[in-house]
Amino acid sequence: MNMMPHPFAEQVEVAGSQRATMLAVCLDLEGILVPEVWVNVAKQTGIEALRRTTRDEPDYDRLMRYRLDILDENGITIDDITAVIEAMEPLEGSVGFLDSLERRWPTLVLSDTFSQFARPIMDKLGNPTLLCHTLVIEDSGRISDWTIRLQDQKRRTVEALRAMNLEVIAVGDSYNDTSMLAAASAGILFRPPDNVVEEFPQYPVTQDYHGLAAAIDEAASALGE
Ligand SMILES: [Mg+2]
Repeated sequence: MNMMPHPFAEQVEVAGSQRATMLAVCLDLEGILVPEVWVNVAKQTGIEALRRTTRDEPDYDRLMRYRLDILDENGITIDDITAVIEAMEPLEGSVGFLDSLERRWPTLVLSDTFSQFARPIMDKLGNPTLLCHTLVIEDSGRISDWTIRLQDQKRRTVEALRAMNLEVIAVGDSYNDTSMLAAASAGILFRPPDNVVEEFPQYPVTQDYHGLAAAIDEAASALGE
């Protein structure tokens, strides 16, 4: 029997000879690529109480209300905080690390920070894709409230990517990252505090970008990349 070539055979062959991208990488922002914003605000303003982070208070709503009350008590506006953030630099080595990831795989930064806080420092990171929340700011500059775009957005973003037939490697450092790590194909911790390491022993722990890149490579290979 004379088999006619399938009309799309050539395209199928070309497509088959190229690797489809089947992996995405999701990174937390603070503690992974940039320092903790609130810790820096605490340093610059001298208000020690602002040092509390999700590492200390896993209940994000309680933590944010506590922070905004302290800002009010001290008359600190968005302009004061923006000045602190503009003076911050990404963690040493993070820009090159992020760039090398973005060249290889779709890379998303998932953060519980706010778009108004993130803007100045995202410029310094080369403007990667960031999904985060939004502050409600009055004309006076007083930060009155915040809008959570989506509850547990880190986890739900990872789940949405996996529903799109992507494997996901997620990197975080804190309690508020652990549901994202659990939803990912592979989760990795970067410079986590001891209590997170103890509670989540299933995730590899890395301490520098060299180690983190190696852990991502290893996870990618295990996922068939
Ligand atoms: Mg973090």
